[in-house]
Amino acid sequence: MFIEIKNATKTYGAGETLVKALDNVNLSLEEGRIYVILGPSGSGKSTLLNMIGGLDRLESGEITVDGRDISHADKKKMTQYRREDVGFVFQFYNLIPDLTVQENIEVVSDISKNPMDIKEVMDALDISKYSTRFPKELSGGQQQRVAIARALIKNPKILLCDELTGALDSKSSRNVLKFIDKVNEKFHTTIVIITHNEAIAQMADAVIRIKDGQLASCTDNQQKVSADGLEL
Ligand code: ADP
Repeated sequence: MFIEIKNATKTYGAGETLVKALDNVNLSLEEGRIYVILGPSGSGKSTLLNMIGGLDRLESGEITVDGRDISHADKKKMTQYRREDVGFVFQFYNLIPDLTVQENIEVVSDISKNPMDIKEVMDALDISKYSTRFPKELSGGQQQRVAIARALIKNPKILLCDELTGALDSKSSRNVLKFIDKVNEKFHTTIVIITHNEAIAQMADAVIRIKDGQLASCTDNQQKVSADGLEL
């Protein structure tokens, strides 16, 4: 199994304000698949994604990626893991306003060990024509495609997306999700997407449901729908 999560537990606060953000979660993810995480607000989705991405540490339990224990790695190894193996995409793009589209991607490729070819990534996401524009000159959907390109350029094994279409209308959402399908197909990236939108779950190979910090279910999708066919 590519990503193994065992007895993952994380609490925040103490006493009356204690919250079990993750409560003994066990989960296995296979390489090259698309996973969608669904669950109400506050159920622990972002906490789980951050743990998989090495942004935060578990209180107890273990996460291994490709056989490496990332939950107990030292700071240097964690940084290396985040830098080389994980791409993050957030709801609000987080592009650097004073840099062009191409420069926004290059800031990551410049520090990457094995970056992908920038032209190939920009072509795959259909943003080459905007390479000299600034983020404010792009629509939300276009900016999100740049954010995906920036996450991908380092050739990560894992792409983690937190509400990547949360700020987009349905047309732009479909367009961005079509590129997610394409990235998965072309680069075989393992992709985990957090969403509130049940419709998006149809494009996943498997759907993970979280409730009150616990894994409610992880079910393979019998009838996977391409992003093109989603009713958003
Ligand atoms: P979701 O992504 O499903 O909305 P989160 O993982 O963000 O849920 O949060 C799960 C729970 O943990 C929530 O009750 C949230 O308030 C709490 N929580 C998350 N991060 C922190 C933090 N840094 N400090 C305190 N509480 C937190």
